[in-house]
Amino acid sequence: MKSINPNARDHFKRRQVLSVDEYVQGIQAGNRVILSRAITLIESTRADHYETAQQIISACLPFAGKSVRVGITGTPGVGKSTFIEALGKQVTEAGHQLAVLAIDPTSQMTRGSILGDKTRMAALATNEQAFIRPSPAGDSLGGVARKTREAIVLCEAAGYDVVLVETVGVGQSETAVHSMVDFFLLLLLPGAGDELQGIKRGIVEMADLIAVNKADGDKLTLAKQAKSAYRNALHLYPPQASGWIPQVLTCSALQQTGIEDIWDTILKYKKDTQENGFWQTHRQEQAKFWLYETIKNRLNSQFFEHLKIKDQLHTIEQAVIAGQLSPFQGAEQLLSLFFSTHN
Ligand code: GDP
Repeated sequence: MKSINPNARDHFKRRQVLSVDEYVQGIQAGNRVILSRAITLIESTRADHYETAQQIISACLPFAGKSVRVGITGTPGVGKSTFIEALGKQVTEAGHQLAVLAIDPTSQMTRGSILGDKTRMAALATNEQAFIRPSPAGDSLGGVARKTREAIVLCEAAGYDVVLVETVGVGQSETAVHSMVDFFLLLLLPGAGDELQGIKRGIVEMADLIAVNKADGDKLTLAKQAKSAYRNALHLYPPQASGWIPQVLTCSALQQTGIEDIWDTILKYKKDTQENGFWQTHRQEQAKFWLYETIKNRLNSQFFEHLKIKDQLHTIEQAVIAGQLSPFQGAEQLLSLFFSTHN
């Protein structure tokens, strides 16, 4: 395994413009400053940055793909950052290099202050085998998700062999994370009876593992009860295409108990699905999904940012609302306008 030296020429060329080759070499040497700068290019809205970032990604792609990508979700307060610290300790002690990325649709205004913030994961932030990157800012979930997916490629090329993608369990971001990870972990709180309420059915269905966190102190019994309840509930869901039976475990991120079992479960999933071929086909499906997703996003933003469309959209929308124009006629008019003036 390649060892990552965080100090390796970290100050080297800090302010200079780097060539694509220098970026790629720096990333492959495990230089965290250069990796960070490359991710900043991915996140930039400048066209020239985008172009450079795409060249770096292309050059890094042959060296990517070798990590275990794990998505982690759960409502705020469930203990995600504490858990990631505990799991991070576990995997780095086992010799892995860990990258923690985040998708947080709620942080668009605050620029990633909620998730992936280094102050939330103080121990990992100073761990030389770990790299933490806050959630990128962006004006759409699709854009933020693309940036994170591309950042995964760069982290893998830099030698990180475990990539955690964290998201907050409040909306559509779980689907985005699910579409870029191999394994999806849902963290839940101990609670009696109606635990599954309040958590969207779709999210539970996506989980390869449910971990009931805070299984400690006076919550221990509740956590065990919750585990049985979730196990029973999961029987009602259709079998997964992976052939994997979703697991339910308890843990205490705070006391760092049950974490090893969770990591072992992730490794078991990897072994089983690599053997049955699902691991590979799943990644191929994800690559295909991102191809179409990127096309859709680009077309969508070009359409709505087009000056003539901006000019006409409101008027046509009003005409449709007023019943003077059918929605299909309205769409047709706008699309004709777009295609006739767009080249
Ligand atoms: P996040 O918002 O999901 O990232 O949650 P945090 O990791 O910030 O944790 C929220 C609160 O729950 C903090 O006060 C943690 O100390 C506490 N917490 C996290 N994990 C555990 C645990 O396993 N047991 C107990 N008792 N408290 C925990």
